[in-house]
Amino acid sequence: MNNKLVLVLNCGSSSLKFAVINADNGGEIMSGLAECFNLPDARIKWKIAEKKKSTSLHPYSAHSAAISFIVEEIIKKEAGLAEQFVAVGHRIVHGGEKFTESVIIDDHVLEGIEQCSSLAPLHNPAHVLGIKAAQSAFPALTQVAVFDTAFHQTMPAKAFMYALPYNLYKEAHVRRYGMHGTSHLFVTDQAAKALNKAVSDTNIISAHLGNGASVAAIKKGKCVDTSMGMTPLAGLVMGTRCGDLDPSIIEYLVTRQGYSLKGVMDMLQKQSGLLGVSGISSDFRNILEEHDKGNARATLAMEMFIYRLTKYIASYAVPLGHIDAIVFTGGIGENSHLVRSKVLELLTIFGYQVDSEKNKAAILGNQGIITAAGSPIAMVIPTNEEWVIAQDSAKLVSNQ
Ligand code: ADP
Repeated sequence: MNNKLVLVLNCGSSSLKFAVINADNGGEIMSGLAECFNLPDARIKWKIAEKKKSTSLHPYSAHSAAISFIVEEIIKKEAGLAEQFVAVGHRIVHGGEKFTESVIIDDHVLEGIEQCSSLAPLHNPAHVLGIKAAQSAFPALTQVAVFDTAFHQTMPAKAFMYALPYNLYKEAHVRRYGMHGTSHLFVTDQAAKALNKAVSDTNIISAHLGNGASVAAIKKGKCVDTSMGMTPLAGLVMGTRCGDLDPSIIEYLVTRQGYSLKGVMDMLQKQSGLLGVSGISSDFRNILEEHDKGNARATLAMEMFIYRLTKYIASYAVPLGHIDAIVFTGGIGENSHLVRSKVLELLTIFGYQVDSEKNKAAILGNQGIITAAGSPIAMVIPTNEEWVIAQDSAKLVSNQ
């Protein structure tokens, strides 16, 4: 059997994304989403070779029932694949300072992931449930953890520390960790290839712009700064998350405006960002549609998104000194030529000049340079986090 297939799992608290990936070439054999866990209408949808299917799961199903269904009904019965897996790769949101790279999961690692739950209370407990369910579904297969935070562990203290009393870092682990590490890592490798440079000699600014969004400064292939913080709430304007904000606003809302702390945190995570400002949607396509129709708040939300993003990009000239390329990725980065051209216009002071044809052509999974000849380089690289997870998993298994 030559195919190195990896089952990639991304377990959330109420849903589970899964994909079967060929670790050698990133090819996706199948993918799907189980959702509405612990609710009467728990369900699952999946896609094999462009054929889409969906069905209900037993009411109130959660991780374990969903994984059993995926293994028994989809992988074994429908796809006939179970014999070919080399590993199960788990996307883990938070690895704290414990995990600086992907690891094979044993009891000690599982305990470490559980210990990081206080830093990602919505995600890590769900990952642990998913790992345990996958371990019982595939007792003979190696399970691997791939951390969103790991790529950012190379940041120097001056970038990851908050200007708070030092013991908060030492005793309570309060620091910047960063997220989307697998995506930033993937585009770094791809950018180095496209630029024909060694990764260890490549400086890029990577902008991962999806529902969640973050920018990373990558020097000689290693992360030296990033916009997300201790949690994914910091940094850019996102779909529903506020990004950076004056911390006193929280106190003001609680003590003067009658909000509960939970209410404020909920608002900052789920009702802010593009949705909060526009009052329309967290989805960038809807914001663009409304902007085209002349909706002033949609335009404001879009402009805030672009302005803050560009300020972050410009500020990363400081740690990098020399920038080989700005890389756009994620749903917005890969598809919105408008966002890219507006960001690069704001960066004219650095000499960036968009090639509007190339910029418009870089959509729907097309990779390419979008700047004119003679301009510093900006490019679009479609991300593929699942492939990184599959590659790391297969590599760790073959080194065992
Ligand atoms: P997630 O963070 O959920 O993985 P994605 O990377 O899929 O998100 O990105 C989702 C975002 O990409 C949404 O805001 C969506 O509107 C935006 N997007 C997708 N296609 C386009 C497009 N053609 N133009 C602008 N935005 C787009």
